[in-house]
Amino acid sequence: MPSAEMQNPLLSEWTGALELPPFEAIRPEFFRPAFDRALADHRAEIDAIAANPAAASFENTIAALERGGRALERVASVFFVLAGADTSDEIETIERAVSPLLARHSNALYLNRALFSRIADLYAQRGALSLDAEQARVLERYHTRFIRSGAALDQPAQDRLAAINERLASLGTQFGQNVLSDEKSFAMVLEEGDLAGLPDFARAAARAAADERGHPGKYVVTLARSSIETFLQFSSRRDLREKAFQAWIARGENGGATDNRTLIAEMVALRAERARLLGFANFADYRLDDQMAKTPQAVRKLLDDVWGRALTKVAVERGGLQAMIAEEGGNFTLAPHDWRYYTEKLRKARYDLDEAEIKPYFQLEKMIEAAFDTAHRLFGLSFEPVDAALYHPDARAWNVTDAQGRHVALFIGDYFARPSKHSGAWMTALRDQERLTGDIRPIVLNVCNFSKPAPGEPALLSFDDAHTLFHEFGHGLHGMLSDVTYPLLAGTAVPSDFVELPSQLYEHWLEVPEILEKHALHARTGEPMPKALLDRLLATRTFNQGFATIEYTACALVDLDLHSLADASALDVADFEREDLERIAMPPEIVMRHRLPHFQHLFSGGGYAAGYYSYMWSEVLDADAFAAFEETGSAFDPATAKRLHDYVYSAGNRRDPADAYKAFRGRLPTADALLKKRGLVDAAPSPR
Ligand SMILES: [Zn+2]
Repeated sequence: MPSAEMQNPLLSEWTGALELPPFEAIRPEFFRPAFDRALADHRAEIDAIAANPAAASFENTIAALERGGRALERVASVFFVLAGADTSDEIETIERAVSPLLARHSNALYLNRALFSRIADLYAQRGALSLDAEQARVLERYHTRFIRSGAALDQPAQDRLAAINERLASLGTQFGQNVLSDEKSFAMVLEEGDLAGLPDFARAAARAAADERGHPGKYVVTLARSSIETFLQFSSRRDLREKAFQAWIARGENGGATDNRTLIAEMVALRAERARLLGFANFADYRLDDQMAKTPQAVRKLLDDVWGRALTKVAVERGGLQAMIAEEGGNFTLAPHDWRYYTEKLRKARYDLDEAEIKPYFQLEKMIEAAFDTAHRLFGLSFEPVDAALYHPDARAWNVTDAQGRHVALFIGDYFARPSKHSGAWMTALRDQERLTGDIRPIVLNVCNFSKPAPGEPALLSFDDAHTLFHEFGHGLHGMLSDVTYPLLAGTAVPSDFVELPSQLYEHWLEVPEILEKHALHARTGEPMPKALLDRLLATRTFNQGFATIEYTACALVDLDLHSLADASALDVADFEREDLERIAMPPEIVMRHRLPHFQHLFSGGGYAAGYYSYMWSEVLDADAFAAFEETGSAFDPATAKRLHDYVYSAGNRRDPADAYKAFRGRLPTADALLKKRGLVDAAPSPR
């Protein structure tokens, strides 16, 4: 072995303090050779399993696959933690080079015929293998993954599938770049006199955007969501709102090189073809077959019910806004570019809420304590801060133990924004839980982008930020409490319409009075939030939900209809969108949250194609699951918490999500609690 490789700390096991990666010894130049070596090792392991002359057994095939690739997992987990939370030019360069290598590696695994024939043999005789329930589930998961990747197809079909995947990948990249290009090329340059209605923070942002774009002394509104939505909310200049809004909804539909409509038609046709090759009638059938929802019909049933009620609710909201226009002496009909502006006015008139009044009650340190306290009361967990050498001084670690004092996990919180960190918030892991190669406990991270305070000042969160902290901590618990044998099933490795249940559910405890009274204390006075303020804060959460529901659900319905086409070869995207919106009676004052020509969830990558419904599906689950606690009269009912622990938070992907949910709740979820949460419960479905 060459000495350079011997010294590469990324290739050794983590035997140091707290079993953490040796962060202080890691340098960017170690990653590429470590990836090359780990990929080659894993490939050799896979080839050896596939070429084993012995007949396939669970042990020599499935368990062997589960034991393999550990070096690659270690290298990749450290790398992607850094690429997300503390990146650099060097890391980004390595990322561009390594991502296609990893994709190719995965294709080579799932299209390996010799390996698949061993898995198929095992699957065919699964009833005679004396497998326990978890082993049977792992075997079924491997078999399904290989089948859904095309492992069982003949060579010409596999070749066609590979060509389709490659073409879809490049169209997806082009789609995203076109949207970005349309966003970049629009800037509405304004003078001081054009700013009527804009609050100070919006003026400052528009001023900064103007400086950045070479218009010193002026103001610029861009098509970034934070810029345009703020302008639409506050600007009293109806002419300017209309101009900006029209540009916003036309992204990807402006003709010329950045027009996405023909790309969409090709992508939808390719997806339909791929689904047919794999034996499905259309892409939505293919996509949903391996989700909790299972069928487009199940999704449609939920969306149609919510949609009908939201139409009724939104008609009431529209009436309130039109009345406000009349009161002001406006002689016009409410238009899409008016909705946010009049909604903001109504919100202020009705609730009189000021962000500056709220924030001092949500100190970061207290909200971390609140999240820990909730986990203690529900699951008996304790959190002890530990000194750990991590990748950045802002990242902190806690040792997590259970009620018997046993080690459960190491939890790392990395809360503050910095230039080296990607935007957003996420949960990830340096190591997943498993018992196959020993009692391996997880190392779980939460990464957020809260504003860092000046030295000596407390870090303060908005109410939305506090929700984000609880959300990511819910994902974190799903990883930390994981209790499975096989790594494939660990923690958050569940279908995408189930994975947001533990996170969205956890947010409910932030609004539990006992938690707020104990932890939402004013940064200066230490006093809890006055009841009246808390009531106003919570009351705004059903305000304007008709609009929000319509804006979202229209997208989910159009997504489902588009990807249910069996043959999309003659698709005209503009006609399709218009006709489908007519079919569902889309209110003319509201535009889809994402129109098709810039719907990146569906076409930039495609992770949410025929899957945009997932957000609402998970919301049905989380609202229904929290109602299980409410029905007992206690948000911390021990028996309910134990079932939640056993069947959801610790269960990983040990069983089908619908079965897991039923075991927790005693029945499948209903949409009742979601309708209540969104204020739609009294809204009768509107006939259409
Ligand atoms: Zn989430």
